[in-house]
Amino acid sequence: MLAESNRSDGISASIAYNVDMIPAHLSQRKMWRIVALFLMILLCFGVTEAQEGVGLYLHTVQPGETLASVAQSAGTTVAVIQRINALAEETLQTGQELWLPARHTAIEHRVQPGDTLYGIAALYGLDAAEIAALNDMELHDLIYVDQLLRLRVVSVDLLKANPFTLVHSVQPGETLSAIVRRYDVPFEQLILVNEIEDPSLLYVGAELRIPGWEILFAPKGLPSVVEAIDLRPTPLREGETARLWIRTDRAFQVSVRFLGKDYPAHAVENGREHFILLSVPVFTEAALEQMEVTLLALDENEQHSFILQAQVLASHFGEESINLLADRLNLLDAELEAAENERIRSIMSGVQPWRSFGGGMKAPVAGSVISDFGTRRSYNGGPFDRFHSGTDFTATLGAPVFAAAPGVVVMAERLAVRGLATIIDHGWGVYTGYWHQDSLAVGVGQTVNVGQIIGVIGNTGRVSGVHLHWELWVNGVPVNPLQWLEEVFP
Ligand SMILES: [Zn+2]
Repeated sequence: MLAESNRSDGISASIAYNVDMIPAHLSQRKMWRIVALFLMILLCFGVTEAQEGVGLYLHTVQPGETLASVAQSAGTTVAVIQRINALAEETLQTGQELWLPARHTAIEHRVQPGDTLYGIAALYGLDAAEIAALNDMELHDLIYVDQLLRLRVVSVDLLKANPFTLVHSVQPGETLSAIVRRYDVPFEQLILVNEIEDPSLLYVGAELRIPGWEILFAPKGLPSVVEAIDLRPTPLREGETARLWIRTDRAFQVSVRFLGKDYPAHAVENGREHFILLSVPVFTEAALEQMEVTLLALDENEQHSFILQAQVLASHFGEESINLLADRLNLLDAELEAAENERIRSIMSGVQPWRSFGGGMKAPVAGSVISDFGTRRSYNGGPFDRFHSGTDFTATLGAPVFAAAPGVVVMAERLAVRGLATIIDHGWGVYTGYWHQDSLAVGVGQTVNVGQIIGVIGNTGRVSGVHLHWELWVNGVPVNPLQWLEEVFP
């Protein structure tokens, strides 16, 4: 990580972006914002009506019904119902409410010459015994030409329109069969929903909807002490920041576990409002992930916990091949780099109870972006096993470097790889770093305001040209700093 390039100055860089993906992401993001808003409305008003339009409906358990019988009549599986409703037990209570996927639609098939029940079942990706049962037949009863058979098929339109469906990003070397095994979905449904014409032509980064994996942002099972909850932006993305906000009816101490890491909550309003800044590390794969939220009353006699489900998507960062000039090759030394990285990590992983950011961050230099955060990087022909942990801006030598937000300077010194480097602590686990400066204008312990000049742009450290590398960490994880120029946290 953290290696630098300036393509105008002796560096050969080739960047491979999947340009086609970009507009799709933007529109998808907009769509998800609308969905998140809709979910908020659901959560705030406790709506319990059937949600036909969004691919889920509420079923009230009748006397004698079992999970298996409910699954069969809904055309789904026990595992799907358990997943959607976060059910641990197999037994149901009469009157219990269950969310069921509304993903089947009834159609009629007119029997053609040569048709068999098994052939029809294969054609629609159904089970022959199920078709027989639906038509009050035995499995081996004869069928005749022009006979109308009732079928329950996947509603493709509904699934395509269903924003709750999990999206899986195809990984290098992954096949459709592997995806089918991973999510336990019928092969035919995967083909149908994603309109795949040739299953052998799957490309890395393709985003597939996984039928049956409806995402539910915990509309049920929230403890009654939770008055409101909001997560944005959704879906979460590799290399980005998200903010979870929870309001409780009285003071609680809140903690969140996500992607194997514990996140601190920051309480305001007498401990009733809780902000959690979540960071999705680079190399996180697309999946439906869970957040475990725990609420502990201040007297520690009362504890609640619940699970939120959140879709994480891959970001499709590009690749850069960088050739360092001979006089900087010594800066690729692994031991030297590891020691410096560890020092930066320990400083930028602290969490202060105060917060000085808010109202948006300001770009750290009046220049243009020459290399994005997250690109996979190879040095001098080596493997693409590093990633760019910040955003590079170019400007003329000596141009001013600005503090992106108010904060306290916690490091200002010369480092081998990063050159003249400044780190500002903005509180709540948010830090910004400014590398390769020509000179520094502020010192450790100094309080700075947004837009204040903290140094001038240079080419110190592992670089081959003048530029500023700007880095942003949230709770010990480097994330895309440009997101913080566009969105206001918390
Ligand atoms: Zn950089």
